[in-house]
Amino acid sequence: MNEKEPNNKTRLVYIFIFTMLAVMLLNVFVIPKLVNQSVEEVDYGTFLNMIAENKIDEVEIEENFIAYTLKGDDKTTYKTGVVDDPGLTDRLYDANVKFSGVIKKESSPIVGFILAWIVPIIIFLALGQFLAKRIQKRLGGSANALSFGKSNAKIYVEAETGKSFADVAGQDEAKEALMEVVDFLHNPEKYKEVGAKIPKGVLLVGPPGTGKTLLAKAVAGESKVPFFSISGSEFVEMFVGMGAARVRDLFKQAQEKAPCIVFIDEIDAIGKSRNAGVYAGNDEREQTLNQLLTEMDGFDADKGVVILAATNRPEVLDKALLRPGRFDRRIPVELPDLQGRVAILKVHAKGVKLGDDVDLHAIARATPGASGADLANIINEGALRAVRKGRKYVTQNDLEESVEVVIAGYKRKNAVIPEKDKLTIAYHEVGHAIVAAMQEHAAPVHKITIIPRTSGSLGYTMQVEEDEKVLMSKEEALAKITTYLGGRAAEEVVFNSITSGAVNDIEQATKIARAMVTRFGMSEEFDMMALETVNNPYLGDQTSLLVSSATAAKVDEVILNIIKSCHQKAIEILKENIDNLHEISKYLLEKETISGEEFMKLLNKENVDENNVE
Ligand code: ADP
Ligand code: MG
Ligand code: ZN
Repeated sequence: MNEKEPNNKTRLVYIFIFTMLAVMLLNVFVIPKLVNQSVEEVDYGTFLNMIAENKIDEVEIEENFIAYTLKGDDKTTYKTGVVDDPGLTDRLYDANVKFSGVIKKESSPIVGFILAWIVPIIIFLALGQFLAKRIQKRLGGSANALSFGKSNAKIYVEAETGKSFADVAGQDEAKEALMEVVDFLHNPEKYKEVGAKIPKGVLLVGPPGTGKTLLAKAVAGESKVPFFSISGSEFVEMFVGMGAARVRDLFKQAQEKAPCIVFIDEIDAIGKSRNAGVYAGNDEREQTLNQLLTEMDGFDADKGVVILAATNRPEVLDKALLRPGRFDRRIPVELPDLQGRVAILKVHAKGVKLGDDVDLHAIARATPGASGADLANIINEGALRAVRKGRKYVTQNDLEESVEVVIAGYKRKNAVIPEKDKLTIAYHEVGHAIVAAMQEHAAPVHKITIIPRTSGSLGYTMQVEEDEKVLMSKEEALAKITTYLGGRAAEEVVFNSITSGAVNDIEQATKIARAMVTRFGMSEEFDMMALETVNNPYLGDQTSLLVSSATAAKVDEVILNIIKSCHQKAIEILKENIDNLHEISKYLLEKETISGEEFMKLLNKENVDENNVE
């Protein structure tokens, strides 16, 4: 904590007063009691009698009292007042008592004062500081409620983030754009000569886990200039007005240190649109935002302060933040494509010992839609599995298993599934697989398993596209829906009864069917009319309906028809392949997991290579 903070003065006064009181109470009540524990006061006559009776062992004559102890077992110290008694010493001498006067302590006032006042004050101050720190920690990290008006923007210098552009795989466009910023900070003259102005603010926009924070750290590492990093939520403070003060302070520090980079992570925490209904009236946040806008206008970009910000909710940002002169450069940081995923896997596999059979390309193909963070996680899960299995290196099997862990959760140990249900599950999964295999536009089957997972899935069929898909045709969409419905269809065809095992399939199929009608323009009824809009393109695919309730009812009807026809098609496919369905399901029930190749061989009635099973 910063000792020079102005508010510390008031805090010191409080602590000082409290300490004084505490010390006084100690001196008046506690210490005398402790000291006088076994002291008994007697009158002078008793003292003289005891001398006469020869009971006294030792006497100490103090300035204003006399203390003595008795012979024998009595350890009590007796005390009596001093009386002008010149004969006392003779009597004591005669009675053969050890006695002494006390030399007055000359230095005692200062030492006494230090001991009685200064030492306790120091102890209490230390205690106060300690408690204050504890309280601050409770209140949340460095955001500290007791230090007013100061931001704790940490200064990161290149060595501290330890990241460089080499750590960021893929994202070449983003890197290129940021390179320019770094280059400007290295030699601004080059830009001044031509008269080019570097943007004041650069906004990194993209879904969570795509490497926005990582990119900013890499910029810090590359640029070798001071790097101020603060999270948007850190501006939101306990006390009103603090956010604005923090912004002011941050920019003041930054301008002193220019050229430098200021990074505001999760800027949507303060930059939310001021007229967004729900948040209207949040004065504190609004003030903070206004202060940020003012500061951004206030400084000269030539000075070399570049502001980076990151968010995954660009649509909620206030328009004023995005206008030229503020965050006028927007860099999309998208989910990685196939090449990007391979590159990210490679970066994270660098520190991991890989076996000879590892094919990162295959892993990348199996993980469309995974973010950089997911991929990093997959590599790490694979490494952990290798350790659990007592191996010194990671195999392809480890990585495939960890893909499944990330998709479906861990294998459930000791899950007891009744034999009858297991049979149903096997038919269900093979149903998916056969329906997929029999349709031209469906992705090839990669793996079928009926091993239960912690996520609650009882088994699943994994499909992997051969190439990266960017567009989805209507045929592919229908094939997907049909494949999802293939599981339940198998149950119907074989057992003539249905189970609850298809919840997730139903949900997914309906989602695709709905998107086809409301967003993709793939139905005849509504042609190319937009019926729904995606609320937040980077965070999930939640949507809002744009149409009247009468139309909504009709939309539902169209969706239902799509699902019904796909369901019918799945049933037809399975009836045509009923022998295969029985045969492969029995095989799956026995093996629990079969690979895509094995499945295709079975389907084409070839001999199965028994060794190909784990
Ligand atoms: P964001 O800020 O976009 O939500 P992060 O930058 O915090 O995501 O990324 C989280 C982690 O994911 C990083 O620490 C890194 O390990 C991994 N990661 C994400 N994208 C990439 C990438 N392009 N290259 C390498 N690693 C990445
Ligand atoms: Mg982040
Ligand atoms: Zn299913």
